[in-house]
Amino acid sequence: MNATLTTCPYCGTGCNFYLLSDDRGRLSGVEPAAKHPVSRGQLCIKGWNAHAFVDHPKRLKTPLIRKNGKLQPTDWQTALDLLHDKLSEIAAKEGPDSLMFLSSAKVSNEENYLLMKLARAGYGTNNIDHCARLCHSSTVTGLVETLGSGAMTNSLSCFEETELVFVIGSNTTEQHPLIGSRILQAVQRGAKLLVADSRKIRLSRHADLHLRHQNGSDVALLNGMMWQILQDGLENRAFIAQRTENFSALQHSLKAFTPDYVARITGLQPGQIIAAARQFATSDRAMIVYAMGITQHSHGVDNVRAISNLALLTGNLGRPGTGINPLRGQNNVQGACDMGALPDVYSGYQKVSDPQIREKFSTAWSVKLPETPGRMSTHAIEAAAGGELHGMLVLGENPVISDANQALVRQALGKLEFLAVIDIFLTETAQLADLVLPAACYAERDGTFTSTERRVQRGRKVIEPPGDARADWQILVALLHRCGLKNDYTAPAEIMHEIASLTPSYGGIDYSRLEGDGLQWPCPDPAHPGSPILHLEECARGKGHFSPVDYRPPGELPDAEYPLLLNTGRTAFHWHTGSMTRRSHLLDREERHAFVEVNPEDAITYQISERQQLKISSRRGSIYAATRVTDRVPSGQIFIPFHFAEAAANVLTNNLLDPESGIPEFKVCAVRIEPC
Ligand code: SF4
Repeated sequence: MNATLTTCPYCGTGCNFYLLSDDRGRLSGVEPAAKHPVSRGQLCIKGWNAHAFVDHPKRLKTPLIRKNGKLQPTDWQTALDLLHDKLSEIAAKEGPDSLMFLSSAKVSNEENYLLMKLARAGYGTNNIDHCARLCHSSTVTGLVETLGSGAMTNSLSCFEETELVFVIGSNTTEQHPLIGSRILQAVQRGAKLLVADSRKIRLSRHADLHLRHQNGSDVALLNGMMWQILQDGLENRAFIAQRTENFSALQHSLKAFTPDYVARITGLQPGQIIAAARQFATSDRAMIVYAMGITQHSHGVDNVRAISNLALLTGNLGRPGTGINPLRGQNNVQGACDMGALPDVYSGYQKVSDPQIREKFSTAWSVKLPETPGRMSTHAIEAAAGGELHGMLVLGENPVISDANQALVRQALGKLEFLAVIDIFLTETAQLADLVLPAACYAERDGTFTSTERRVQRGRKVIEPPGDARADWQILVALLHRCGLKNDYTAPAEIMHEIASLTPSYGGIDYSRLEGDGLQWPCPDPAHPGSPILHLEECARGKGHFSPVDYRPPGELPDAEYPLLLNTGRTAFHWHTGSMTRRSHLLDREERHAFVEVNPEDAITYQISERQQLKISSRRGSIYAATRVTDRVPSGQIFIPFHFAEAAANVLTNNLLDPESGIPEFKVCAVRIEPC
């Protein structure tokens, strides 16, 4: 039996484990890594089952081309030639910006970097994006503006030093289970816990205060807490004076947010808001933890600004046990952003609109580069639906299930002249493609992944991919070659050399330094030990900037026709569109069917019983799912997980976008339910 250390393919926590394989090249299980600083000998149920989908019989093993309406096997040479020819032809005919490239938070840093290079240098467009657009684009926009860096400011080890954890919009024990465990351990040690979430989640059982505020009222709640902090004189005046700017604008903006006013918006009691403000501000070291409950709103960037304002107001930044801690979703969503799989930046968030930066990449890649920032993925769907986009290459993403308003997504992809998908399974998106290329999964290729705490770690090849499947980086190198670009990489470590040479925050990252616990960026040079905490002496932008925000309600609230609010999210057993977890026997057994949570009061009103099939409808479509009657959801709200293609929550969700980050309002839309 062989045991190979690698990084978990699921959430952004960044656990490592040993993949066990036999001499015939088959995986047999997973063993926790006792000495790893994140997992510390533990795994969640997804991690324990991370080997289970790898040899699933439905893995893609050969390239597929659509002929006479059906996907049929072909060889690599034919498939790659067709892909390059079609992308080149569309770029020549309609212009490079008629192409869109979707990268992936599931593939490695090296692969994200190569696709970013391919889109920009190979096909001449900045139209590249990935699923961070759907989860933490609000974080990147908001925190870059206020602090100068869009990443988690502190490390997971900080939970051991904090006095208070404020969890808002994160069901941490289910989405990032080992981070949830750290929070519970902090509570056992004596730290206070504030939870702000309309649902009852496991953490709320252990909270000193559970604020069940209305979905979409986060700005009002956070502004109300800050109003109270100022009223009580609990702000950190020394920190504000030395480390921040624009404080008077913040003071002015908060004048209306009295506890009574905020109570009317949030549905909370004024005393709860006052208590939360006092508990937070009187703790010397407080960590704010948030996730998609904050970011997935049409005012997601404002939510992030308000969180940043609260941390700056109380001086909870740049010290152990403090900080603004957005929990990144997939195992490499941080890395995909870092690698510039975004429409406006190269790797390391270097702006494509900056002539000097553009010149640097242009010289390194020996090609002229496009100047105008590209399309966000959510705008690309709208553009495709409107006939402005003609070709798309999707690497390891499944927008048919993951994007808001599925009918619009299907319409958009159906209008493309050419759609190519690289993936490990024939996902719902791949089923629509003209060309499908079979990829190696995480256990079958080398690469690095960057976790939510900015920890760059190795993923290691353990077994060979099935059939003719290839590593994504090998597929992308073949395309770079067809574009005539210099690419003599023979292994991902060589790609990392190029990344390090062009990306200041990764300047000291080298495979030889990643054998132990990995390195946390910024790591600017080969002697740098990495950075567990950001903004130590000053913020990345210099002064921390207070960005006042006003409360704006969600775009579509319940009304007479659609009287309930829909909230969406994940469950402990499944991951995103379920392409891997629903093909893992034990995970599938534990949560096999879609469900809808309905509050007991609403169950009486609508005469619904436990497990009864419901038709759930919004202005965009209908789905069917079985009822779970539970007070986890408040009356007036239902909750549906978005993993299940046969009852896809995103048939219902609203594609109203945040105007700055382009993130859809996944967390609030109006629906009605009917027993059937
Ligand atoms: Fe994997 Fe996340 Fe579970 Fe850790 S907490 S084992 S990284 S899914």
